[in-house]
Amino acid sequence: MSPHSSENGVKSGMAQQAESSLPGGAEKKWRAGVLGATGLVGQRLVKLLAGHPWFELTEVAASERSSGKNYSEAVRWHLDGPIPEAARSLAVKSLDPSLDCDFVFSALDSSVAGSAEENFARAGYPVVSNSKNHRMDPDVPLLIPEVNASHLEAIHTQQKIRGYDGGFIVTNPNCSTAGLVLVLKPLADAFGLEKIFVVTLQAVSGAGYPGVASMDIHANVIPFISGEEEKMESEPQKLLGKWDGARFIDAGLGLSAHCNRVSVLEGHLECISVSLKKIACLKEVREALRNFEVSAELASLPSAIRHPVVVLDGDDRPQPRRDVHAGNGMAAVVGRVRECPLLDIKLTLLSHNLVRGAAGAALLNAELLAARGFLNRRVQTEGEKQLPVPVTQ
Ligand code: NAP
Repeated sequence: MSPHSSENGVKSGMAQQAESSLPGGAEKKWRAGVLGATGLVGQRLVKLLAGHPWFELTEVAASERSSGKNYSEAVRWHLDGPIPEAARSLAVKSLDPSLDCDFVFSALDSSVAGSAEENFARAGYPVVSNSKNHRMDPDVPLLIPEVNASHLEAIHTQQKIRGYDGGFIVTNPNCSTAGLVLVLKPLADAFGLEKIFVVTLQAVSGAGYPGVASMDIHANVIPFISGEEEKMESEPQKLLGKWDGARFIDAGLGLSAHCNRVSVLEGHLECISVSLKKIACLKEVREALRNFEVSAELASLPSAIRHPVVVLDGDDRPQPRRDVHAGNGMAAVVGRVRECPLLDIKLTLLSHNLVRGAAGAALLNAELLAARGFLNRRVQTEGEKQLPVPVTQ
């Protein structure tokens, strides 16, 4: 293990700087915009972009409620620590696709994300999205770099079919799917998968701000999250499936999900049972999870961790309050690996819904796009410039 790495293969700040010289001989950082920058996921992105070795935040956009204000005025800041200095005085823009940046992250509410993301892609911007709208489109990569980096090839087909010139859309999965699939991937590789049964206990921050009313969730569990079970049952099929050069082929798994909202602030817990194609003992299953290691290409991305699945030994772990920040919030934390009397094995999983399931996932996707040469410098034409909006003092 490198002296700069912690136990879980997470890079220290110094190591990150040293390892993260710009890829592909690029001389300048890529300029990033964040659509939906005032929301819970958008704020995480703004924070993660502060001091990022490859990307620089140059634009923020949100709804009419926010546009025209300074970012520090428009945002109701929910994170520890102050608003990053570089973002404070940025003027919040509208969703007009005329921002001064090389690519955009989208953390927009799904009511507007669909058409806004298409408008940006059509105008030539790579769009790295968190929203559900385009995840299952037949020409849009649904990406977890550690799982299906090869699906990025679909971008060329997408651009051809849609007539996008330089622009495209790439998405990350639903917050519960992200952790689940990170755990399923090493099991699929080592033993093959047949059926998965999963019950989630999802944090309130998964619903955005202000999310679920406190009178509904306090001292309570809500056994329904609209659309969530459908996403958890369909997205893993695409993620663990294949891009055959023309279309995505589903993984063909048997998958059943129950989704519950619980009174936890951050971190989705999932109780998972799995049947495997090849018989394996518990020791082999634990080893497959523990030994899951990313390629050298992925390990060189600033937000990547070398071992994305962390296996804990304690009987009562993982717990959201104690373990949600493992691997800087990018790890899928697994515990209680044991035999399942119905399927083959069962385990408990925790992942950070706002980092691994949203902002951190999008950032890692953008880093892979940069490393593979999918991000170009965009020159803003005169006609593209947004009319100056009066900034409230
Ligand atoms: P959020 O806190 O409700 O933020 C929504 C953002 O969208 C805000 O910036 C808001 O701007 C903007 N917006 C809303 N209506 C708009 C409009 N008509 N025009 C322009 N902008 C508009 O939601 P969130 O939790 O950050 O989630 C953002 C996206 O990521 C959603 O699609 C969500 O499903 C997805 N996601 C969330 C999570 C999670 O754990 N929370 C995980 C994975 C994916 P204003 O502040 O100006 O209203």
